[in-house]
Amino acid sequence: MPIYEYRRSKTSSGCDVCVDGFEAVHKMSDPRITSCPECDGEVERVMSVASFSTREPSATTLAHANVEKKGFTRYERAGPGSYVKTAGNGPTTLSR
Ligand SMILES: [Zn+2]
Repeated sequence: MPIYEYRRSKTSSGCDVCVDGFEAVHKMSDPRITSCPECDGEVERVMSVASFSTREPSATTLAHANVEKKGFTRYERAGPGSYVKTAGNGPTTLSR
């Protein structure tokens, strides 16, 4: 089932749960959630790709295991023009 992300609407002051957004798993045919389960404030669905959170990059979403699972390769800058792979498939180092 797809994961949907919801966040407080601009007209709602929100609470800890919906200010940062929360994820809900439900069928595409199910009605979208319109209010926060915590504060009952108005929420809106955030544009999201199924099973992939659009949340701002965080420690969780950028964890190496997640990166690999999503089929991405991640490189970190090792020096001027040189990059070292930290996750995923691909050459171990890149250099310009
Ligand atoms: Zn809330």
